[in-house]
Amino acid sequence: MYKKLIFFVLAFSFVLIGCEKKNGQNSNISEKALNIYNAKDFVKNYYSTNRYEQDVEDQTSAAKQYIDSRIENKKENEKLAVVFDLDDTMLSEYQYQLKNDFSQSHEPKMLWLMDGKMKPIKPVLELFNYAKSKNIDTIIITDRDKSMRRSTLKNLKEQGYKNWSQIMYYPEKNSYSNKEQYKTDMRKQLTDSGYTIIVNIGDQQSDLNGGYSEKTFKLPNYIYIIE
Ligand SMILES: [Mg+2]
Repeated sequence: MYKKLIFFVLAFSFVLIGCEKKNGQNSNISEKALNIYNAKDFVKNYYSTNRYEQDVEDQTSAAKQYIDSRIENKKENEKLAVVFDLDDTMLSEYQYQLKNDFSQSHEPKMLWLMDGKMKPIKPVLELFNYAKSKNIDTIIITDRDKSMRRSTLKNLKEQGYKNWSQIMYYPEKNSYSNKEQYKTDMRKQLTDSGYTIIVNIGDQQSDLNGGYSEKTFKLPNYIYIIE
């Protein structure tokens, strides 16, 4: 289900260091690249202090402000919706990553996900409830497939997410070449059915690219990327 790539090494070594120049020449990357253990420490520090939550909150606060402004300018008969990604947007897998030293082994992680023990990302839960309190539809588009439906619903409800308008799962038989195409198509279907998606929030650029939303809000994820 997941095509995830370890990200932090790239994020904190090549991106930062690859641009560095010495006497007009690119410096030697092998000398300058950040050690993977230091990269992990950086990630642990980022998530375990309030920096992660503060960055999330910056995004959800901006999303709330946009919801307010959009409600003020709502046209008659408009059916407004906020779209949420699920993993590492509504629920966090950071504790699993930490415990498993950021391993991307597929099967153990699937078993853990099926156990439905993920914790909520609190500013996003607040945004979710805020949208509901304003009578805006809340729609979840996840790249999980329906084989995970039961544990997904249990996990969401136990962690406080209740009464969403709709949840869309990744189709088991599909013709999508990547997750971005799938998510874009889901938003297109929602738009075609009469929704105006005012906010789309996710931790991956592939959650947000492709249009069919007025505003996008990108949450931090320094552990993996999904294309
Ligand atoms: Mg996600």
